[in-house]
Amino acid sequence: MSGGGRARSKARGLGPRPLGVRGFKSHPPHYTAQILLLLLILCPLAVIAEERGPRGTSYHIRVEIHPTLDLISGWEVVTWTNRGSSPVRELHLRLYPNAFSGQGGGILIEDAGPQEVVLNYSVSGPQNTTLILLLRDPVSPGDRVSFNVSFVITVPHIADRFGLSGDILALGNWHPIMSILRDGSWVDHPYFEHGECFYSEASDYLVEVIAPRGLVIAATGDLKSVEELDESRELQVWVAESVRDFSLTASWRYEISQATWGDVTVYSYYLPEHREGGEAVLQYALNAIRVFSEHFSPYPFSSFRVAEVEAWFGGMEYPQLIMVSGNFYTGDKRTLEMIVAHETAHQWWYSLVGNDQWEEPWLDESLAEYSQILYFEWVYGPKDAERGFWDFVGNPYYLYIEGGGEALPTGISVGQVADDPDAYRAAVYLRGAWSLRMLRSIIGDQPFFEALRIYASSHAYGIATSQDLIHAFEEAWGGDLNWFFQEWIFEGCVPSYNVTSVQGDSSLRVEIRQELTHCSQPSSPKKMPVELYFQPCGSEVKVWVNQTVVEATFDLNCTPEYVIPDPRDRIPGRDFAWASKWNQSKNVNSRRVNTPLLLAIASIGSLAVLLLLTIRRSSDIERDQ
Ligand SMILES: [Zn+2]
Repeated sequence: MSGGGRARSKARGLGPRPLGVRGFKSHPPHYTAQILLLLLILCPLAVIAEERGPRGTSYHIRVEIHPTLDLISGWEVVTWTNRGSSPVRELHLRLYPNAFSGQGGGILIEDAGPQEVVLNYSVSGPQNTTLILLLRDPVSPGDRVSFNVSFVITVPHIADRFGLSGDILALGNWHPIMSILRDGSWVDHPYFEHGECFYSEASDYLVEVIAPRGLVIAATGDLKSVEELDESRELQVWVAESVRDFSLTASWRYEISQATWGDVTVYSYYLPEHREGGEAVLQYALNAIRVFSEHFSPYPFSSFRVAEVEAWFGGMEYPQLIMVSGNFYTGDKRTLEMIVAHETAHQWWYSLVGNDQWEEPWLDESLAEYSQILYFEWVYGPKDAERGFWDFVGNPYYLYIEGGGEALPTGISVGQVADDPDAYRAAVYLRGAWSLRMLRSIIGDQPFFEALRIYASSHAYGIATSQDLIHAFEEAWGGDLNWFFQEWIFEGCVPSYNVTSVQGDSSLRVEIRQELTHCSQPSSPKKMPVELYFQPCGSEVKVWVNQTVVEATFDLNCTPEYVIPDPRDRIPGRDFAWASKWNQSKNVNSRRVNTPLLLAIASIGSLAVLLLLTIRRSSDIERDQ
């Protein structure tokens, strides 16, 4: 890459001007004209927009993609509304490309203005990812301010969500995006390579992309027009509303397949050599849009795009656009389907209902991870979902904790595990999905899914917190569920159940002990309904185990030879059954991970993924799965 914009600027005027961009103004004309244009284009959408509630920010972006695809230059006009309670004189925007400076990427801020609005600006923060504008006059609560930022982006030559690799440009988290003002302070989390750290408001976008002719672009929103500028360039106008980000991918070689479900058109972009995978992806995405629309809330846009990229991860979610690694387009389709289902679920959990992905990553990831299992259930039936659960959640979680990993709480922040992507994935994705599955078995299907619908509708286009999700479950169920979230989301460990004694004949007295394992900081005993299976009687009962030792009495017309706790392994942890011939407990739960071979048989798909990732990078299957 030719030098250009690798730099990070700390003051205006540093660094080179964009090179080789013919006839292109790198600065906006006058920003008020841009705002008028934005309003004009978005006006027909105003009625729908009203239903989506007030948006704090709108962006008018105009960029040119250089023919080499690794240089993007342009400007944006941002209109931001102060929805806080105090005047604000300092504005923060995030510059995530600067997190890639070590790989040759970056964003150079050329200017911020106009002068009558912006007094000065600087770039600082973790990895120089924060652009700070000091305004001449404070913005009062309820007032809005418009300003413009000119920039040059250098795209690193790497296989990532922001990178140029092979024949595909992936532009994720690329443009200067408003940070969130919370309780009077700007929230500027560091960039997190192995997952998400993004935190932005639902906003409106008008994006004009000047691109070399022949370049196929997949982007957030809808393509409104294409205009030929000259023999080598065209102008594409994309419009998106109520979205938290604007992302795009592009390739000279993309092929496109499309299909519709209801009034939603789904597009799949793939390289010609991956046509079979690309067609399969289209079907998976259609399925996902359908089942999630039916069970969560209707997909709120008329288009959804899935784009193949070159990446070390499985998939990455953006509003109305997901990136899926081309590594999965050939071979085992089950994993590809899982990835598409997971990323599509993020259209509800992240895009529709936002959250602070750094502080509460479980809100979007645990829900998306469990939604991918629900996808299998709703598309193929419960048996298939059970297989999907063990392949993609249950066995990988056992593999992690039995391999020496700690059973950390699901509700950790990214900052607590930023240096350990395996721990992050186990806690936030795997344990989180498993916990939601347990919650469903405790409160029942109807309240469980009603809660998800309440959560989706109550916080659509907004930003939710852990308490909001807990309240949705409590509202749907009609009772206190704080204890469950405390034990499984905010505390770690897994319980090991041990049937330590069985006495009596027809009236059995059974003693069950629980021990919390796989954690360095034992929490108080978990309170869970534990199934007991009496063999060969064929009877099954449920006992609430809420202390370290619990005694329960049952009337059975049968003398059991075995009493097996948690026979279907609903609750993670290694359990011990009681056997009459030993008159003591033995570890007989079949699914326990005692040998890697057993796991390999049970979870070929997961191991294939692990193998692949071992080759590519020693981190999890997806930065975002
Ligand atoms: Zn995810």
